[in-house]
Amino acid sequence: MTWYNGRLEAVSGDITACRVDAIVNAANSTLLGGGGVDGAIHKAGGPSILAECRRLRTEKLPDGLPTGHAVATGAGNLPCRHVIHTVGPIWFGGSRNEETLLANAYRNSLRTALELGVKSIAFPAISTGIYGYPPDKAAKVVWNVLCEHVEHKEQPEKIQLVFFSPASLAAFINALSAR
Ligand code: ADP
Repeated sequence: MTWYNGRLEAVSGDITACRVDAIVNAANSTLLGGGGVDGAIHKAGGPSILAECRRLRTEKLPDGLPTGHAVATGAGNLPCRHVIHTVGPIWFGGSRNEETLLANAYRNSLRTALELGVKSIAFPAISTGIYGYPPDKAAKVVWNVLCEHVEHKEQPEKIQLVFFSPASLAAFINALSAR
């Protein structure tokens, strides 16, 4: 099942298999790996991604990557060329600026993609796993950011949202139609 809207596409699948220029990692601030999609990306990509993340920590980010920011590494054994690591907010009920921080994670990933000259990019549903952001609330934030981006910028030509299951893709589509 896929859902298209011009340059934006929502699909279900495993982001590590995506044949795009860049995939986005829902990392944590340490950049040193974690569970969920972060663990899957490091597992499939191999140790070179972690080695680059360690170097970034030492040379540029001694305190880690702040929530909402993004940074790029190579992609090791993955079929894409770049991994853009970003940190989404942990959900605390909506009172701690979560919406802005989630939007920033997508916006700054797209800014990094433009700097890299990326033509196609795939995003996971940042923060909606271990970090607990309600998927229906995240859907609206993400969709607004992406629509705003394609309105103003010509690249990336193709932007994919990759949901891990058909059920989570269906929930995303429902959340948007309920707006
Ligand atoms: P966060 O800590 O930002 O919540 P998670 O990795 O726990 O990050 O979850 C983010 C989303 O990524 C969840 O919806 C989860 O189901 C999904 N996910 C986990 N593994 C993959 C994968 N290999 N491909 C695509 N999405 C994935």
